[in-house]
Amino acid sequence: MNINELITKLKSGKALTEAEFESLLEAEGDDMLCLTEAARETAERIFSRKIFIRGLIEISNICKNDCLYCGIRRSNRCADRYRLKEDNILECADVGYKLGFRTFVLQGGEDGYYTDETMCRIIRSIKSAYPDCAVTLSLGERSRESYGLMKEAGADRYLLRHESASPEHYGKLHPSSMSYENRIRCLHDLKELGYQTGCGFMVGSPYQTTANIISDLRFIKAFKPHMVGVGPFIPHKDTPMRDFPAGNIDLTLKILAVIRLMLPNVLLPATTALGSLRGGGRERGILAGANVVMPNLSPPDKREKYSLYNNKLATGVEAAEGINALREQFDAIGYKIVCERGDYKDIDVR
Ligand code: SAH
Repeated sequence: MNINELITKLKSGKALTEAEFESLLEAEGDDMLCLTEAARETAERIFSRKIFIRGLIEISNICKNDCLYCGIRRSNRCADRYRLKEDNILECADVGYKLGFRTFVLQGGEDGYYTDETMCRIIRSIKSAYPDCAVTLSLGERSRESYGLMKEAGADRYLLRHESASPEHYGKLHPSSMSYENRIRCLHDLKELGYQTGCGFMVGSPYQTTANIISDLRFIKAFKPHMVGVGPFIPHKDTPMRDFPAGNIDLTLKILAVIRLMLPNVLLPATTALGSLRGGGRERGILAGANVVMPNLSPPDKREKYSLYNNKLATGVEAAEGINALREQFDAIGYKIVCERGDYKDIDVR
């Protein structure tokens, strides 16, 4: 099959063979351009040339987990730990609202300070101060009951990357205290409870094979998430995975394109990790079918402490205050940042 036939098959919703996925992921030059162009056209058909923005508030870098790739893992003694209290979080949201953000993403390590009661109080405060805004949570694995209580308190969406859909590969990235089964249980609970749910994975994470990536893509097709977070792995110097190379930008772009073509309506961010590698990754993400960006709304003095990987961008256009510079960057490629909640819409536009 040539590239156009592969793209047609992907768009039709039919299942691709292993070899067909491999050809897409190996596309180079004009073939890669065909793939990313097709994804960009699909995104444009559904979202016009609108880009949704999400204000990312990194509420805590304290974490009980020990994921081997992550800079805020429990065993990292060099991390300078912090947590934001309710007041700080509301101040961040206030700055964000004035800048035009209508979605706030509360992300953090698995920090026991944020009990269900505390989280529900924070969610209610944000929702009552900004009833026209969506609240997205990204707080890792919790019980079904906890997810349910936070949903009742008003949370709208939840991001929980599955990290790897191959249990064996998942096991190489995580300590034995964590399990693939629980991660997937969480994702199903979130969806059943009515959250707009996001899964996703890192590209080029240690030990990842092409077969693993194909499993991730098949998992995503079957799970039908409302959002998908995919960005390159970037090593962090104070983790056991410090010596592994960063993920490849072109491969990340091809994966974004495949996801857009498989799930036309999905909310797909051009991630901070993609923007953090050299070479204008974020705009290239948009041109490969992404339609969301998540500038940083955390208190400026905390941003460098939330270090999941080295050289993470948190200033300039990655900072929420840099929204005007970001607008100009997207203007230059013909895209427009919009101040809307940007919910998932299940419309059939094939
Ligand atoms: N504790 C929350 C939030 C995790 S941080 C949770 O468990 O979901 C958000 C995402 O950052 C993770 O899901 C992971 O895929 C990504 N991440 C962590 N370390 C990274 C690294 N070194 N390079 C690139 N992405 C990383």
